[in-house]
This record gives sequence, structure tokens and C-alpha cells, in this order.
Amino acid sequence: MSNNHDELVTSGDPMHPANLICSLCAKFYEKDWCLGTGGGISIKDPHTNHYFIAPSGVQKELMRPTDLFVVEGTDNNKELNVDDVTFVRKPPGLKPSDCTPLFLTCFKELDVGAVIHTHSSNAVLASLLYDDFFEISHIEQIKAMPSDKWDPVANKYINLLFQDTLRIPIIDNKNFEYELTDDLLEVCKKHPHSCAVLVRRHGIFVWGSTIAKAKIYNESIDYLLGLAIQMRQLGLPTVKPSI
Ligand SMILES: [Zn+2]
Repeated sequence: MSNNHDELVTSGDPMHPANLICSLCAKFYEKDWCLGTGGGISIKDPHTNHYFIAPSGVQKELMRPTDLFVVEGTDNNKELNVDDVTFVRKPPGLKPSDCTPLFLTCFKELDVGAVIHTHSSNAVLASLLYDDFFEISHIEQIKAMPSDKWDPVANKYINLLFQDTLRIPIIDNKNFEYELTDDLLEVCKKHPHSCAVLVRRHGIFVWGSTIAKAKIYNESIDYLLGLAIQMRQLGLPTVKPSI
């Protein structure tokens, strides 16, 4: 066993975080969400408390599990230090994703299981059509999105209903990805039930309690963003006025 803990990223299970990050990055590349090394994915292994982080500068469709960085969380995520990250696995010759401070902020502050960052053209375009929030209502796909409504019987938050309005905060871009950390944190504290933040002229961050949920939210949001862009082109409001 090497000193670089290759065992942390070596598994025959396609659902292992290291394998999932590579397969999802390749799929996201095909959808033009992560071109030219932009974007990234980070997943927490709920069983080991390890955080798997994609490298910087590696083409997404060519990423291998051995390219991944691993951070070990302690004390229920609260020990993650965004300013001075300690990696238990560091692939030689690679740097961690520029999004690492943003990913760790989401894990630490929101207690999520996975974060997806894309440079989707729908996200970039929609961020130019709205000021502080992207908003859309009365579209079936909204029902895939989480809400702030607690169901005491099911003992969980329920998803939005067809007639509800999905609101996603928008923050302005900065020259360097890490410079977005404070703004991301501030907007997350103001809107603790949001599962995404748009970054104007840049892309989107989406998170969920599991990578499956984050993936569903990301796909649903991208569809809704694309729909909203077309609705605005047709002169249609994306939030249906109340009668
Ligand atoms: Zn980015």
C-alpha cells in the first residue's frame, strides 16, 4: 500500500465516490457543463467521513480515480479548515480544484453530502436575465426541487409543488474562484433552504444530502434555466402572475 493512500480511491464499486466523480464528470463534459477543465464535483463518503475532491487542470472526460484529492473530516465536518486544508491524499503533480474552498464551505456550513459546480451555458445566460434571484413557477419539473416546508408525519422537508416558485439566489462573479467563498457563505446563511447558487457570468453550484440528490437537483435546475431563457425570449413571464 502506497503512502499516498491509493486505497482511498481504488474500488471496483461504480458507486464509490472516486469512481462516481470520474463517471459524472465525463457525463457532464458530454452535456457541455464542464468544458476545458471548468467545473467540478466533490462527494463526502458518509461511511468514512472522507471528502473526495476533483483535481484542477485535468480534462473532465479523462479524469481517473487516482487523480482525486481526499480530505479527512473530523468532528462531524466542523473541523474542515477552508484556509488551510489538510489532504490525506494528494496526487503527485496535481493541484486540487480551484473550487475546493467553496466545496468545503458547503460541506462545513450546510452539512451536505455532495456539491456540483458547472459552467452550464443555461446558468450563465439565466444569470444575466435576473437580478438577485432566478425565479420560476408552474412548471412540472419544479416538483423535483426541495422546499422549506417540513412534513411532521414524514419527518422530512417536502419538495416544491407545481404552483410553488423556485428561487435560486444569484451572486456576482470574481476574478478568482476562491474569492466567491464569503459571498457564497453569506447567501447560504440568508437562504438556508436553497440547494443552489448561481454565479453571474460564471455558472452554478448545486448541493444535496447525497450525490444522487445533488445530481437530480442539478439536472432539474438546468432544464428549468433553459426553459426560462426560452420563455423570456417568447416574452412569457417565468413566474405565473396570481389571478
Ligand atoms: Zn467555475
